[in-house]
Order: sequence, then structure tokens, then C-alpha cells
Amino acid sequence: MATWEDWQIAYSTAYEAIPDKPHTPCPNCGNDTLRLVFTGDSSRGIGYAAFWCDTCLQGIGISRAPIPDGATVRDIHDTPEDRRPQIPNYTLVS
Ligand SMILES: [Zn+2]
Repeated sequence: MATWEDWQIAYSTAYEAIPDKPHTPCPNCGNDTLRLVFTGDSSRGIGYAAFWCDTCLQGIGISRAPIPDGATVRDIHDTPEDRRPQIPNYTLVS
């Protein structure tokens, strides 16, 4: 079972890779299916980072994360149902 620290390291790798896909294995299941999507106000450049694995549906969330250029951003002004891409209901690692 991957720890929060393991996820934090993978998050850093994914963050540095933006706008490219991270291509780092999931710390939990090892698949190359990690996703990093920000929800926020792109004009302010700060948002909530959702970082998860599409295979095992585990991950972490980072509040008040700086949104880098080229990141996938869901606009906070859209209603939650209209925000794209959709984020699955994944399990937060604590
Ligand atoms: Zn996984």
C-alpha cells in the first residue's frame, strides 16, 4: 500500500512533466495511468489539484496548488456537473 509520501513524490514528477503526461508508474499499482487535474480559477493561478490513478482509483488532493501553464484545469465557475474532465470518485490516501 502506497503512503501519502509515495503519492507526494509521484505528484512532484507529474507536476514537473506538465504539459506532458507524467509517465511515472502509480505508486500503488504500478500502472502508467496517473491523472493530474486542477480545479480552480485560472485567472488567479491557484486551485485544487486532484491526483489519482485511473486503474486503482486511489490518489491525493492538494489544496491551493499553483496551476502551471499547460495544466488541465476545470473552471471553478462551472457547476460541478459541468466541469470537464470528470474526476472519478477515488479514494484519498491519508
Ligand atoms: Zn494505481
